[in-house]
Amino acid sequence: MSLAQPTEQRTLWTRRKTVFRLILAFVLMFGLALLTMIRFTEQAIAPLAATQAAPAPAPAVAEGRGDGLPVLIAPVEGAAIVDSWGQSRDSGARPHQGTDIMAPAGAPVRAAAAGTVEKLFDSQAGGHTLYIRSPDRRWSYYYAHLSGYAPGIVAGKPVRAGDEIAFVGDTGNAGAGNYHLHFGLSRMTPGDGWWQGEPVNPYPMLVGKAAGR
Ligand SMILES: [Zn+2]
Repeated sequence: MSLAQPTEQRTLWTRRKTVFRLILAFVLMFGLALLTMIRFTEQAIAPLAATQAAPAPAPAVAEGRGDGLPVLIAPVEGAAIVDSWGQSRDSGARPHQGTDIMAPAGAPVRAAAAGTVEKLFDSQAGGHTLYIRSPDRRWSYYYAHLSGYAPGIVAGKPVRAGDEIAFVGDTGNAGAGNYHLHFGLSRMTPGDGWWQGEPVNPYPMLVGKAAGR
């Protein structure tokens, strides 16, 4: 007995240890399984949450308004904007393709939208003009009758919406003393040159979605 007892006790202890190890293994396995389940659930929920968050409206600074038209800010601060699209010009020889913004001589002209300066051009009709191309190259913004350009405005220069780019003048066929900014918007194909494109009335975008300027 005295010999058998320790053996029995040892056996019992070994058994207990085995049972304890088994329980420990179970607990670990269960814990691992639980963790894996949580991870899977999170992965399953995450894309759902992403799709649910997606339809939230983009901020006004983002390009595009959902209808494919660019977001524009008024290029001359505080100036009244009148829809002059289609008005007769040159005694009916051509329709007006843009918006005239009456403003004092030398008033700063700001970029209506972000883009890259594509061309500084002098023409008989437009006087000192400036063409800025949208980053996706699908829009061209045209500023005419300028008295001059802001420092640093050269072809290839990137501009942000609201950056000072030029000054209001009466150059070209504006008429002496008839200080205003002619703002034009053209829909472009990316390969179009600065002189190409299809004119679009910018008025609704200038008054509809003006971002505080
Ligand atoms: Zn005009």
